[in-house]
Amino acid sequence: MIFKTIIEPFRIKTVEPIRHTNRAEREEAIRKAGYNLFLLKAEDVLIDLLTDSGTGAMSAKQWSGMMQGDESYAGARSFYRFESAVRNITGFKHIIPTHQGRAAERILFGNALKPGQIVPNNTHFDTTRANVEYRQAQALDLRTAEGKQPHVIHPFKGNINLDELEQMLEQNLGNVPMVMITVTNNSGGGQPVSMENIRSAHALCRQYDIPLFLDACRFAENAWFIKMREKGYADKTPLEIAQEMFSYADGATMSAKKDGMANIGGFLALNDDDLASRCKNMLILSEGFPTYGGLAGYDLEAIAVGLEEVVNEDYLRYRIRTVEYLGERLTQAGIPIVRPPGGHAIYIDALSMLPHIPQSEYPAWALSLALYLVGGVRSVEIGSMMFGQQPDGTEKPAEMELVRLAFPRRVYTQSHIDYLAEVLLHLNEIKETIRGVRLVESPPVLRHFTARLEPAHGQLIDS
Ligand SMILES: *Cc1c(COP(=O)(O)O)cnc(C)c1O
Repeated sequence: MIFKTIIEPFRIKTVEPIRHTNRAEREEAIRKAGYNLFLLKAEDVLIDLLTDSGTGAMSAKQWSGMMQGDESYAGARSFYRFESAVRNITGFKHIIPTHQGRAAERILFGNALKPGQIVPNNTHFDTTRANVEYRQAQALDLRTAEGKQPHVIHPFKGNINLDELEQMLEQNLGNVPMVMITVTNNSGGGQPVSMENIRSAHALCRQYDIPLFLDACRFAENAWFIKMREKGYADKTPLEIAQEMFSYADGATMSAKKDGMANIGGFLALNDDDLASRCKNMLILSEGFPTYGGLAGYDLEAIAVGLEEVVNEDYLRYRIRTVEYLGERLTQAGIPIVRPPGGHAIYIDALSMLPHIPQSEYPAWALSLALYLVGGVRSVEIGSMMFGQQPDGTEKPAEMELVRLAFPRRVYTQSHIDYLAEVLLHLNEIKETIRGVRLVESPPVLRHFTARLEPAHGQLIDS
């Protein structure tokens, strides 16, 4: 290729207007929302980077697939289409549809975990951890040293810590019902896991006779990073790489709202006949019959097509480049971010960027509010508001104060990203004027979703 510009590999057939607001309107909207971006009306947001989950745009092929949805209660044609799409990538014997990833987790753990057991993972996603703990089991995160440091450059910061894994398997013989690896490592910053790491974890699991499960929500993004960064994979297709990743696992949980390219859905896939039949029985209790699992036939069609599209090289190149491009613009301007950027989001290090705001005044939360106020952009705080509240009601500052900008799939174009970079560069110039916030009203758990706050010093940004 002689041209360097990586273009959006699609043209736009249906458009959804987004609405400009002025600063005064945003002041009013954020005040009414109790200075909590979760409580804003989405209509009052210009560019919404709250999450990449279920927020993607579907293709013409997915929409036409939906028209072919077979809504038969049992044995629908759409199920077999879905099953074969999932099997083509994962190779697993039993494919169980669910309405989201967390339903797959609940059903798997409901049948495979006993109280007191331990589940190691590179890093548990929050619903995964909650579902493990709901079974009174322990969710253990085993990150590598480089994975824990936001500014250390390493190609595979999502890897599971193999030394710690081996040690813990040795020390807990008989008490580890499964090992999990999350690809990419969402809670660790969307960082990839290498094939070598998955292969070695598989070998360890075989040695101890323990099944290995992938939390596969972003398997295609992970496959792309392996292709780009790991020796021996440059000439393989993302599909071949994904197939190899899954070949080392005994099962997987998946949210189709991520790399399923759909707005809803998920699945549990596994090889063990006995466990699968118990999971299917539990599925019937809450999700539905095993050939639809809480989804409409048309949802199964959308996912089947989405799984074919997500491993497309042009798509993945554009997807990963979008994140990397914004990362480059911010790094050049001296804005501290978690590096290198992961697959689905940029994480701004608010603690380094706003050293004048103490953690007790939630610097990342304040930065996310300033970003909305100045540019109409919605992001999400991953810091002391999300993690600081302890079960006993006390407050403990989080390890990092991050603002996450997550990119919906196929939704925004380069000009949106350029605009976003411009807003962030401006914020960086006026960063000394950004002020902290304090809590006014806080629920007992998961407070970030509904808490109400106010500026701690009169204004969010000094005028
Ligand atoms: C989103 C996500 C889940 C949960 O999926 P839902 O569809 O939101 O229930 C689990 N694990 C990871 C890594 C995720 O990103």
